[in-house]
Amino acid sequence: MLVKKISYYNEFQCLMGECPQSCCKGWRIPLDDKAIRRFRNEKGLWGLRLKMAMHGKVQPSFSPYCFRCPFLRLDGRCGMQLKKGEDYLAEICRIYPRIRFCPGTYTELQLDLSCVHVAELFLEHCEEQYFVEEETEEQQEQTGDNDDMAYLEALEESRAQLITVIGTAAVNGDPEALKEALKNVVVYAATVQDKMMLEGTREPEALQSGFERSEETGWLPECFPLPIALINQLMSTDFYQDGMQYVLPLLYKLCRMYYRHFDKLSYEDGEKEWQRLFRKHIAGHPERVKRYAAYYTSHLLRTYMECYEDYSFLKHTMSGVIGLNVIMLFETLWREKYKTLSEKELARIISVCERRVYHNEVVEKEMMKMIMKEKTKTA
Ligand code: SF4
Repeated sequence: MLVKKISYYNEFQCLMGECPQSCCKGWRIPLDDKAIRRFRNEKGLWGLRLKMAMHGKVQPSFSPYCFRCPFLRLDGRCGMQLKKGEDYLAEICRIYPRIRFCPGTYTELQLDLSCVHVAELFLEHCEEQYFVEEETEEQQEQTGDNDDMAYLEALEESRAQLITVIGTAAVNGDPEALKEALKNVVVYAATVQDKMMLEGTREPEALQSGFERSEETGWLPECFPLPIALINQLMSTDFYQDGMQYVLPLLYKLCRMYYRHFDKLSYEDGEKEWQRLFRKHIAGHPERVKRYAAYYTSHLLRTYMECYEDYSFLKHTMSGVIGLNVIMLFETLWREKYKTLSEKELARIISVCERRVYHNEVVEKEMMKMIMKEKTKTA
């Protein structure tokens, strides 16, 4: 089967004990059915330890309150893997941070930026993100049920076109051009979704005609930067919680920085301050525009093909805008306070934002509800 790997895929190797932000902490670890059966069948002391670590009757998980996996050793290594080997682990622990998309005829392999080391690799390679193709003997399990090849082809074409729109806009490092491009991508996605869902247009036609118009939705979202009032609403979802200081201390610190900076300001003054910070940040670091475009491109590469199964065009394009803005906000505040930001620190910021925005169903749902409310208000 043809396998397409993101260019830096083979460079990933888990940092294990050296990881500054282990994925074995700060998350609930959902268990798959096979692992649940395997763990429940264990006897003796090991079986007892497993049973005590599994929480929840229907779909048990480890670490339900997101502190740390009970099998994570003090030296940062996985006690279960050391005792039983990698194949014994729950599927999520075996696979993470790899992302696999297999519509049947080929497989795409990518890496999730919520892993801090992947975020570091992304920063190293962000100017050249492409797929490396290879033929393998290995058969890959299909990741969904859709078998509409015409839709798949049109979707791939649409993703390539959107990536070109973003890449072209960022060539000269002009923030206005990127702002326009992001807006066009989101409006395109909203149009395609409406055409498919409300008008019943067939997928390839909807994906094609989405490029031909842009004003029909009447919705022109400000995407770069998002208005501070909207960012504030997003932060007031489950995104920020006091308890985060124990499970994701860096994100807690970043959120506190945000609240200290903006809390006393009215929405109007807050917007002026946000625009001032944004302009200062971009003027001092014009190369950042290309970085932000690269981040959004990475988001499209990793998530846009999910539309093949869920048809959620608006969700997959808008969630990238949200992630981009949250990262940009924290990066701006960090530089304002500490005057400098290393690549390693930026990688950690990207990683915690990705964890919170894309790997927390409640946050993701609440954020999307807000965006949809904005869309309906202005449409
Ligand atoms: S976050 Fe990444 S590098 Fe760190 S322990 Fe998890 S998989 Fe390994």
